[in-house]
Amino acid sequence: MKNKGILTVVSGFSGSGKGTIMKELMANYSDVYALSISATTRAPRPGETHGKEYFFVSKEEFEGMIAGEELIEYAQYVNNYYGTPRDYVFEQLENGKDVILEIEIQGALKVKEKYPDTLLLFVSPPDAAELKKRLTNRGTEDAATIASRLSRAWQEAQGVENYDYFVINDVLEDCVKKVHGIIQNEHARVFRNQELIDTIKNELKEFSKGE
Ligand code: 5GP
Repeated sequence: MKNKGILTVVSGFSGSGKGTIMKELMANYSDVYALSISATTRAPRPGETHGKEYFFVSKEEFEGMIAGEELIEYAQYVNNYYGTPRDYVFEQLENGKDVILEIEIQGALKVKEKYPDTLLLFVSPPDAAELKKRLTNRGTEDAATIASRLSRAWQEAQGVENYDYFVINDVLEDCVKKVHGIIQNEHARVFRNQELIDTIKNELKEFSKGE
């Protein structure tokens, strides 16, 4: 029997390094994970390509996706839309892949509400000063956008208690191992193995009849 994959949401403040963690997870365990690619109306950053980091679409196209119910969830984040295309996620879960959504907190909570078995992970830098430093050093956003992202981080921090795990991203390699460990341990949870447990119970019942 093939186990279905686990739907995992990874959120974290902008600048928490979660994008890099996802890249490392995919590079090290590409047979285990599938990373969902979101649609967004934000402009590509230098080096980003359509269909790789995101599907970059216009506002009209995005609204068409909402109307066509093509998205599992969507949210607005600092003046842009972001959303998760549905089909890929369910195809990959059926294939037994653990599917990761790297999305912000409003979307994360919507996914959890619709699919309560979803595992929610929150990634944070060791402290707020480090977050500001990483956002500034990235050099891809202007001062106003950085300020908006920092204020959004403060808002998001109010919702962290809704998550199942909180992981500090200090040393990247350690953090990647920790995230991988959490997701893989999750496969052993009793409620995710009910079918197998029932089969074993039935087999044992048959054996005990012979006594
Ligand atoms: P960025 O513009 O830095 O790539 O992403 C901004 C925020 O949007 C990040 O917190 C990222 O996790 C989130 N995000 C990316 N894709 C999605 C999505 O499909 N849905 C939601 N709700 N948030 C997303």
